[in-house]
Amino acid sequence: MNFRDPAQYTEDFISYLKAKNPRENEFHQAVSVVVESLAEFLVKNPRYLQAKILERMVEPERVIMFRVPWSDDLGNIHVNRGYRVEMNSAIGPYKGGLRFHPSVNLSIFKFLAFEQVLKNSLTSLPMGGGKGGSDFDPKGKSDNEVMRFCQSFATELSRHIGPNTDIPAGDIGVGGREVGFMFGQYKRLRNEFTGVFTGKGIEWGGSLIRPEATGYGTVYFAEEMLKMRGDSIKGKTVAISGSGNVAQYAVEKVLDMGGKPVTLSDSNGTIYDPEGIDRKKLEYVKILKNGYRGRIKEYAEEYNVTYFENQRPWSVKCDVALPCATQNEISGEDADTLLGNGCFVVAEGANMPSTYEAKHKFLEAGILYAPGKAANAGGVAVSGLEMTQNSMRINWTREEVDQKLKTIMVNIHNTCVKYGQNPDGSVNYVKGANIAGFVKVANSMIAQGL
Ligand code: GLU
Repeated sequence: MNFRDPAQYTEDFISYLKAKNPRENEFHQAVSVVVESLAEFLVKNPRYLQAKILERMVEPERVIMFRVPWSDDLGNIHVNRGYRVEMNSAIGPYKGGLRFHPSVNLSIFKFLAFEQVLKNSLTSLPMGGGKGGSDFDPKGKSDNEVMRFCQSFATELSRHIGPNTDIPAGDIGVGGREVGFMFGQYKRLRNEFTGVFTGKGIEWGGSLIRPEATGYGTVYFAEEMLKMRGDSIKGKTVAISGSGNVAQYAVEKVLDMGGKPVTLSDSNGTIYDPEGIDRKKLEYVKILKNGYRGRIKEYAEEYNVTYFENQRPWSVKCDVALPCATQNEISGEDADTLLGNGCFVVAEGANMPSTYEAKHKFLEAGILYAPGKAANAGGVAVSGLEMTQNSMRINWTREEVDQKLKTIMVNIHNTCVKYGQNPDGSVNYVKGANIAGFVKVANSMIAQGL
């Protein structure tokens, strides 16, 4: 590998990664962006290259894959696959969510776990990185079926996790209900009440603001970026994708700050409400999505607004885009459309929602573009605060947690500026987040030896 020329080093490293991890496209994508950001820095700081830190960081410390058998309400037996990628524990126990979605595979969990390592490092809390989940599809399942699946999943997962070892939480398809079932099973098997999961219910060890944290944090981050240009969310038209936990609380915070959210989406389509999604309409979305797990199309019928079937929100006119659904939901073409329509702020509430092409278009256009590992770190940050409260056996108030979340997001923003500021004063937040996240983990790995 060439240690002198950043472009050549990037190319060599990506070839190495692809040869070692064939067909893991999402993982290649996530690592490629990080290597591109780091190459120049690494060439100037060869001790990281000599210690093979990046080669070590892309190899998970441990991957656990397991059988998850369960029976449905009719007594039919199903077998799903469970995963936990324990990526890096240099700065703390493995920490990261669980995703239940039929599309998942090892490549997706490795990309998510890799991103999580850098994201957790950025929060400045002592958390390593991991991710896991299953190809189970919670859609259309009864509560009892979800419970039986979660109990079977947690039966095996329990052997590998612990409050000082690996602390899972939610992600797509895993919310308070699922965390409750898994935590219950862990407790039954271990006879231990500990903070082994985060995202717990408020009556049994959860933290206030945890459900809100990812969405709120993303908007706090966007506000910080705008502040750098003497601007704010106030008066801005905001396109948001997704309609789950992250998207709902992003809408709430945009409203708090005087912006106008105009879209939400799910896997079937997008609603476009040019008048703005106000608090009353947001309540409707919360009941629709959380209460009876409905589809966003019903919003279009209820409020008589446009519904784009099988489309994402990126064709509407907006100043700010908050992708809060899933990976690769903004294509290169979508990025062109957004930029063409005047969008000049993109803050990622989801993990890697911009494709490789889209990311480069945003960077080249010089807009305010925050990658997920910085903009959506509020979720795992409040998970870290939940762990602290559990260890101390205390509960902080809503105001205390929100204040700490805000401080963490401002600090992440400032760290990105420190490491990502260009000579002309503009900021490359992708570079800033990747270098800042990397340095802490890399130094800790060197300090702890091979
Ligand atoms: N799944 C969230 C993320 O992508 C939160 C993880 C956690 O709270 O551990 O960061």
